[in-house]
Amino acid sequence: MKKQDSNKSKVSLLDLGANKAAAHLTEQLGHWGVKPFRGKQILRQVFQRGTLDFALMTDLPIELRSRLASAYELYPLLTAGKSVSRDRTIKQLWRADDGSVVESVVIPMQRGHRTVCLSTQTGCALGCSFCATGRLGAGRNLSAGEILVQTIHPVSGGQGGEIRDSDNANSDRSLNYVFMGMGEPMLNYENLASAIRVMNHNDFMQVGARRITVSTVGLPEQMVRFSTEFPQVKLALSLHAAEDKLRRNLMPVAAKTPLPELIKACHECNRITGRRITLEYLVLPGINDSESDITALARISKRLSCKINLIGYNPVDGLTFRKPTHPELIQLRDKLFELCKTAVTIRDPHGNDIAGACGQLAGVRTPGAHARRAVRTEKREAGRQRGGKGRGPAR
Ligand code: SF4
Repeated sequence: MKKQDSNKSKVSLLDLGANKAAAHLTEQLGHWGVKPFRGKQILRQVFQRGTLDFALMTDLPIELRSRLASAYELYPLLTAGKSVSRDRTIKQLWRADDGSVVESVVIPMQRGHRTVCLSTQTGCALGCSFCATGRLGAGRNLSAGEILVQTIHPVSGGQGGEIRDSDNANSDRSLNYVFMGMGEPMLNYENLASAIRVMNHNDFMQVGARRITVSTVGLPEQMVRFSTEFPQVKLALSLHAAEDKLRRNLMPVAAKTPLPELIKACHECNRITGRRITLEYLVLPGINDSESDITALARISKRLSCKINLIGYNPVDGLTFRKPTHPELIQLRDKLFELCKTAVTIRDPHGNDIAGACGQLAGVRTPGAHARRAVRTEKREAGRQRGGKGRGPAR
């Protein structure tokens, strides 16, 4: 997949947003004396068929294709590498013109479904203690186009990408999109919102809102705004601790948003959308899985319309948390369900061996580095499992 001429005078079509893209094309085509219906054709090619090369739009006259190529940029990010996991998870590395790198992941799910995990920032200033992106420190916000290209071509390959096999690929109901990659989506609100509007719009990608999930560490104001503007899009809250002191230790941002304030915001989101919020709970054995932790989590869940998703910690180089065993997760799930009678699920880990699982994304550049990192963390993990419980930061 090659980037077209990166001449800065070109307009980035993916960055314009739903309304402006259509208007810009209409005006430009009018200026060239081209019939307006061509505008819809172009949008269909780009956003529904995933054709990010004007030369391949064979339903357009050749002259128009070359005019479009000289006026518009279609690749806000370059594909810069791809890793494939033993479980068929694919991690895509992207590179921006300024040298920033970012990753997205395509995860195979049951019944042929796939989940595309999207990034919104090149690093993260929030510094959660268990997260590889947080260890990179602050990055920059991705533009709307840089977010969208991850959804249009989730993996490098030919026209339409390797996971697409129909003319109307983006309306393919087997694809779900989660904003759980690098960065805190709500800190890049405007570009996130612009990308979601394009994804959801009928003239653009036609992705049903319920196939999109946005996950946040919990920024109350943005959560309420988001629920108001996108009531059908699913919202997930990274809770990870049910008590303020521990939450502050794990997630420094919690110092600004005490749990009572966060729960109030969740209530408001429930009221606005009439939908359940997913409480994500990263299980860190010996840190947040005690009897009292679980009792407190159950108490919070009873106060909300929600479901709980337990996520086993995925090892990150340089961190000393322990990955829970599957029986530990099952036991926790059952105990929690017993206490709160709310739906409790366990997220299947995917892409561990390519550092593509939850919390592991950090813009690593080479498959060799993934493999070496995976071997190191697996060895350390095996040693820990033999030697008993792992260590983590003190409470
Ligand atoms: S978990 Fe999310 S919010 Fe926390 S450091 Fe990682 S990317 Fe940032």
